[in-house]
Amino acid sequence: MVFRACLLSTAIAATLLATSLPSAAQSVETRAEQAANPLTTAWNTPDGVPPYDRIRPEHYEPAFDLAIAEAREESARIANDPAAPTFENTIEAMERAGRQLARVSSTFFTVASADATPANQAVQKNVAPKLARLSNEMMLDQALFQRVDTLYNTRAELGLTPEQMRLLEQTHKRFVRAGAALSPEARTRVAAINEELANLGVAFGQKLLADQKANDVFLSEAEVEGLPADQRSAAAAAATAAGQPGAFLFPATRSSAEPFLTAAPNRAAREKIWRAFTYRGDNDNANNTSEEIKRLVQLRIERAELMGAASHADFVLEDSMAKTTDAAMELLMAVYQPALVRAREELRDIEALAAKDGITDVQPWDWRYYAEQVRRERFALDEAEVKQYMPLDGIVDAMFETTQKLFGLTAHEHTDIPVYADGVRVFEIREADGRKVGLFYADWFARPTKRPGAWMNSIRVPNALLGDTPIVVNNQNITPPASGERALISLDEAQTLFHEFGHGLHGLLSTARYPSLSGTAVSRDFVEFPSQVYEHWITEPAILRAHARNAAGEPMPEPMLEALLKAQTFNQGFLTVQQLSSAILDMRLHQMTELPQDFDARTWEAAQLRELGVPEEIGMRHRLPHFSHIFDGGYSASYYAYTWAEAMDADGFDAFKEAGNVFDPELAARLRREVYEVGNTRDPAESYRAFRGRMPTADALLRNRGLK
Ligand SMILES: [Zn+2]
Repeated sequence: MVFRACLLSTAIAATLLATSLPSAAQSVETRAEQAANPLTTAWNTPDGVPPYDRIRPEHYEPAFDLAIAEAREESARIANDPAAPTFENTIEAMERAGRQLARVSSTFFTVASADATPANQAVQKNVAPKLARLSNEMMLDQALFQRVDTLYNTRAELGLTPEQMRLLEQTHKRFVRAGAALSPEARTRVAAINEELANLGVAFGQKLLADQKANDVFLSEAEVEGLPADQRSAAAAAATAAGQPGAFLFPATRSSAEPFLTAAPNRAAREKIWRAFTYRGDNDNANNTSEEIKRLVQLRIERAELMGAASHADFVLEDSMAKTTDAAMELLMAVYQPALVRAREELRDIEALAAKDGITDVQPWDWRYYAEQVRRERFALDEAEVKQYMPLDGIVDAMFETTQKLFGLTAHEHTDIPVYADGVRVFEIREADGRKVGLFYADWFARPTKRPGAWMNSIRVPNALLGDTPIVVNNQNITPPASGERALISLDEAQTLFHEFGHGLHGLLSTARYPSLSGTAVSRDFVEFPSQVYEHWITEPAILRAHARNAAGEPMPEPMLEALLKAQTFNQGFLTVQQLSSAILDMRLHQMTELPQDFDARTWEAAQLRELGVPEEIGMRHRLPHFSHIFDGGYSASYYAYTWAEAMDADGFDAFKEAGNVFDPELAARLRREVYEVGNTRDPAESYRAFRGRMPTADALLRNRGLK
């Protein structure tokens, strides 16, 4: 239930808040072009939604250029204001600035991920460096920082509300963490390090993609024997498209490798796929990522030192709910140890079944296949049969009904709102008394131009300062049904649907006054709590009984429902060890204060895994040579956040179970008020405590995973 991709990059959110310094950049657009560009004129649309029906890709770049120039001017006005700094003329003024840039950015970045056409990709490539430069200029602008710093140092005497105090502290922290408070030499060095880190991240990502492509596996008819028809036909089509008709092509990606390793009876073929997938970035060729890893870690150590932190991990966790590396590691180890015990038990079951096939040395490429055999034997679940009872429309009804029962909210579909692609649906979310909360865009189906995974993003964040109402988007990659047929989904996809809507509610229900404290703008180890906790309701028997129905309207048979829920804890030893070993190595790597001259990622990784006792049959979910989260994905020293949030969602949902009613009105009201509404207006630990009355332990998580 973890691992879903989640929110659209927080880098984008940071960009939206970026206001900046003296203006050098000039608009290149003429008046006539501006008039024709819907992005640079007022929007006469219902609710002020982006006029996607009139926006063309060529409108984005000139609109960005104008908005960036405008943001620069606004920022310069604040920085150079002759009046002494006040909360209003500095902190609040920064919240008001960059409005047009926020509008253009959120309109564009929504389609950049959901509809990454070559034209949109080209726009993204061109505007990314401009946005990064703007952000850097602002964060290192000394005139601006002096004003913020002056206010920060006199904050006790300013008569601020608690939310204003939080905004001032957070704004100050953002400048300090970017290096604004350092000496001029150190600032220059930090800027150079940041630039090199960004370039290394790009290089890492590109090598990885190249190596993954180079590791495409073409299999023969004999090698795919026994594979389910949908995997075979997809692989045959891919091979034909790649100029090898008659063969079967399996790319070295998770979405291709995992189902293959689970279903393929041919052991030698499994080994081929496993090797291609597992050694991405770790082959003896030009795409080996070890040099990038070494340099990235080195630079992060140097930057942490300049910032006065004990290590990069300490620097990262300063700005988190966990606060210290000790707190994060303590939770990871508390989950890892029992998971290891369970994994060894699972291995015995697997060895017993593999022995029947004459296999006496179970290898990593055997685990998923034999685990699936064990699962079938134990639960008698047929995924295809389960899906017949899981129509997308029914599960969407379940999702909205849950929201109504918990928070009194209702959803009403609009068909008159312009959307960016066919199949995107728009719902107005209303309070019980009919008042409008905001708009929810649902983009659930796969399309060739959509990036993989599932995520939520905001087109507009709610805030009282500017009077904005929210617009949130959910994306997923559900296979579209054949025409005239119902879309059917797996339980996993249903959980993802609920997960992303949980982020959506977090974005919709915020009552923050200031945009940069609104909704999902919280620390990484807290942001998955509102989404993960919402997942729990889809596996409530009452919800499934009401909404999981086949085409004839018959509910899911009770034995199937029971088996489905029981199977949730199956193979959790394996899954947890995989996830936790990645999280632990991420943390240990970034706790280093010095990198040995001869550091080699492969050797270091192997030594760490030996020390942790990770069974070779299991290994890591993400090996270092291709650990995108931490080397080019902004999750360095933060992969623990998934586990951290899971401890909260498991413990948080337990509150409802303890109340004897999963829709307990008093608890639901508290969850909304203390978690979904508060955004980043206070420390997340306070929010959790206000909801639960105490901090979580690992107990509920361990129980949910069946590890206790
Ligand atoms: Zn998420």
